[in-house]
Amino acid sequence: MKLTIDATRRQALMRAHTATHLLHYALDKLLWWTKQAWSLVEMDYVRFDFSCKDPLSPQDIQGLEYSVNSWIKSWVAVITQEMSFDEAKNAWAKAFFEDKYWDTVRMVSITWEIVDDLDIKSIELCWWTHVINTQDIGSFKIIDHSSVASWVRRLTAVTWTKVAEEAQLYEQRLLDLASRLDCQPKQLETKIEKILKEIKHLESDHEQLQGKLICTHLEELHQHCELPQGWSSRWKWCIINVTWTSLEHHNFKDIINNAKSKWSDRNWIIYSLEWNFAIYVGTGDFSAKEFLKEKWLKWGWSDQFVQGKDPAIIWIFS
Ligand SMILES: [Zn+2]
Repeated sequence: MKLTIDATRRQALMRAHTATHLLHYALDKLLWWTKQAWSLVEMDYVRFDFSCKDPLSPQDIQGLEYSVNSWIKSWVAVITQEMSFDEAKNAWAKAFFEDKYWDTVRMVSITWEIVDDLDIKSIELCWWTHVINTQDIGSFKIIDHSSVASWVRRLTAVTWTKVAEEAQLYEQRLLDLASRLDCQPKQLETKIEKILKEIKHLESDHEQLQGKLICTHLEELHQHCELPQGWSSRWKWCIINVTWTSLEHHNFKDIINNAKSKWSDRNWIIYSLEWNFAIYVGTGDFSAKEFLKEKWLKWGWSDQFVQGKDPAIIWIFS
């Protein structure tokens, strides 16, 4: 039997794994209190879970990428040494999870004093295979940041030529988007700004038209209103059942707002039997529900108005 090593795969794993150590160190610098929860290393692909409640900001993500890429560019040697666990502990190596370490451990150190804010002192106990110099990673890019569970967030990153592949994917997305919006990728921002402005304009037009339509409906209903027996005209009430009227398909809030602004001197009860709710608009402390359930019936009105299938019922007293 002959064992062979898939060199391409192995190198891709080495790059991703050393990049994981760099990312871990960069995260430690950013959030000193965070802990690694889990990590997955595949060919030029890293998934790193860590404890953190809130999402990282785009600036944080860019900062992490900048640090890792700076260490890659700085040709930092990756040094592996086997030593006793105590020796490693003295060197401040990070020991993870509930790992049971053997008497002999392997310490992976990537340390370098570059410039103040880009110093690196990553020391971890690790039996994985690594590149011998950070420059072998080539390039590093975080492609996703998500939440896995409460207090656990995930960073997904790629290395080596996968960074360029990701960039191409993004470029393709931009090209598709631009072609759908009938412009050049460079013009996307201006184009989107213009579309958003147009939407706002249309929305306000739509709102005005809706308002006019509602007022017309209200006036129509007014034409056909009757004064119920026993009701005094000094009560300035407007009671509208929207369920079977031309108002049926309008937004409830819009009806109320328009009714209020058109006839501001009145008390309104707008209700829908179908939806089983009523809203009172007007002055004073008054419950529309109370009105419909108790007073209406107390005043000798048949509950057919509450339960029946009457068309629009509207009374306006002035
Ligand atoms: Zn490791």
